[in-house]
Amino acid sequence: MGNDGGSIAGRAELVKLKKPEKRVESLLVAKQRAQFCSLTKERLRKPIACCRVGYLYNYDSLLKAFMEKKIPSELKHLQNMKKIKKLNITENPDKNNEFPFVCLISQKALNGKEKFQALWTCGCVFNEKLIKDLKIKEFKCPICEQPYTEKDIVQLCPTNEEAEIRKAQLYQEIEQKEKQKVDQKQQCKVVDTAEDLEQQQKKKVCTEERKLMKQALGNNKLQNLQNQSQDLKKNEIYQSLFHQQHKLEDNLFTRNVRFGNR
Ligand SMILES: [Zn+2]
Repeated sequence: MGNDGGSIAGRAELVKLKKPEKRVESLLVAKQRAQFCSLTKERLRKPIACCRVGYLYNYDSLLKAFMEKKIPSELKHLQNMKKIKKLNITENPDKNNEFPFVCLISQKALNGKEKFQALWTCGCVFNEKLIKDLKIKEFKCPICEQPYTEKDIVQLCPTNEEAEIRKAQLYQEIEQKEKQKVDQKQQCKVVDTAEDLEQQQKKKVCTEERKLMKQALGNNKLQNLQNQSQDLKKNEIYQSLFHQQHKLEDNLFTRNVRFGNR
């Protein structure tokens, strides 16, 4: 990927080194981080972004990697775009200098040796010494004057040891947040289950009420049918009696006619 500054030394290689050698190697790593994108290893160029570990990235390359879901496992703390901050940084006026950026106020080069910090609130980057030199005691950005807290300060270009400590802290924070999410989901489930039970109970009561009403209606209908059938029977008996009376009268009339008893 166009890395012309050599590879960044791994932790295993650093552990084998003696203390003074280790310090030189650590500085070399920090120096490389001030020059090259921690994702593509290409030379840094504006616009750039940083993560909470303090690595610098070419912003466009990072966007592409997010879109293509190609974030390597060693940068797994970059879960989404919220985990990066676009930086307000000044390009080195000396285009031939090996370091591409400088502090806007002090004009000192961001070289991995000088301590530089970025503010997560506004993205401004400046030399840490500047705060001491200007005797700024309040938490206000010296460039844009936006207020910040200690938590918003990101030390840029860490050594491998510093980076590992910061990564461990970030992973711990991510784990805690995920655990909180799971706990919240479980609490919601308990509430849902309680509401479901209440709904089911209400449904049960309604069904039972409906059953009783049906039964009552059924009983009424049956009673009505029984009453109707009794009325019909009474009617039939009455009709048959009436019919018999007519028959009797007819017979008497016929007999009287035959015997001249009219
Ligand atoms: Zn600022």
